Amino acid sequence: MNTYSLYLHIPFCIHRCNYCDFNTYAGQESEIPAYVESLCREILLVSSSANKRLPVHTIFFGGGTPSLLPLASLHKILNTIAGGFDLQPGLEISLEANPGTVSPDSLRGMREIGINRLSFGMQSAHPDDLRLLERQHNTIDVIQAVKWARQAGFDNLNLDLIFGVPFQTLERWQRSLDLAVSMGVEHLSLYSLTLEHGTPFLRWAEKGLIPFPDDDLAADMYDWACERLSGAGFYQYEISNWARHSDNGTSYMCRHNLQYWHNAPYFGFGAGAHGYIQGYRTANVLGIKAFIERCSEIENCQFPIGPAAAQALLIDRWTEMQETMMVGLRLTDEGVSAQTFQKRFGETLNDMFGKQILSLMKVNLIEWAGPDGDRLRLTQHGKLLGNYVFRQFVGEDVKPGHPFNPTQTKGSANWVNSP
Ligand code: SF4
Repeated sequence: MNTYSLYLHIPFCIHRCNYCDFNTYAGQESEIPAYVESLCREILLVSSSANKRLPVHTIFFGGGTPSLLPLASLHKILNTIAGGFDLQPGLEISLEANPGTVSPDSLRGMREIGINRLSFGMQSAHPDDLRLLERQHNTIDVIQAVKWARQAGFDNLNLDLIFGVPFQTLERWQRSLDLAVSMGVEHLSLYSLTLEHGTPFLRWAEKGLIPFPDDDLAADMYDWACERLSGAGFYQYEISNWARHSDNGTSYMCRHNLQYWHNAPYFGFGAGAHGYIQGYRTANVLGIKAFIERCSEIENCQFPIGPAAAQALLIDRWTEMQETMMVGLRLTDEGVSAQTFQKRFGETLNDMFGKQILSLMKVNLIEWAGPDGDRLRLTQHGKLLGNYVFRQFVGEDVKPGHPFNPTQTKGSANWVNSP
């Protein structure tokens, strides 16, 4: 039985950072009450259009800045979800928060209503980086937020950091990461800065006002981070994500994000949110007002397409296989299991992607791993060239392909450990 995840997009920010291309808006806080009403209505319409209460094991408030929502609004959303879905034992409820937008009271309240994982956008510990990124907090805010979260009872905290910021040196990055590690959090997400279309950062770089990212320096920063975190007891499970193990041996990996990387189903609620349900990839209208209008105008919907959907694309089997490779290979340890792939699709990895696997193995970008050699994953070198690897598995020109022509025998296939 599939267990579902819910993503809830909260598109409000105090200020729009100059590198950000997320669907988020500054100065629209007056729309929060109507937005929350609409979000609840969307959840209600979609959940009631299913023929049964669907099981849910993770909920993720992402943004934007979900910590800008009043506690009563978060509570109302969670109650609406509990009314429409079958919440599973051990439910993970994550919320993204910006340091500087939380207080001891708000964090205590969040914990009381069931939120059990927080992700703080730290980004850097250096004031020059924070100023350039136009972040609205300082390092003291981060330290305080972590302390207050602990006092409120949170035992699962993440910090997001960015490396490759213009003018950032390796040493400055090392100090930021050291400080993050010293805070004793359970999870770290490290992202390399990319200059996205339509952002002030890209325009500034094009005008020569800031340097374009230095790929070699970013690679050094990433390599250093891998070693530093492994030495500090973190386990890398995804290209950009590291987790600790708890005292009883369970992992603090983000179960919500694992749902994406397993190419498993999730609902996307809110403006611009994406979902993947029953083979449909859905995308909601982007604007806050458009989202509110859609949710108030539409009386009922046809599962799994919600009232605010702007797009619903039915994914065929081959595309599903390609996407499973693209997202699964992000899991740096687990990778894509040949057995799980075969169970899901009734086809072998080798028959579907043998050509790609062979050529990527030849250049040491992927490898077979695990006790029985069942898991295809990136090599350490491949982690730095992940986007190149993923592109080999997706796109219209990629066709299913066994690497051998019919005159060759399977016996020559000793390069691959697939069953
Ligand atoms: S706080 Fe986060 S979501 Fe909001 S504008 Fe800045 S980077 Fe984007």
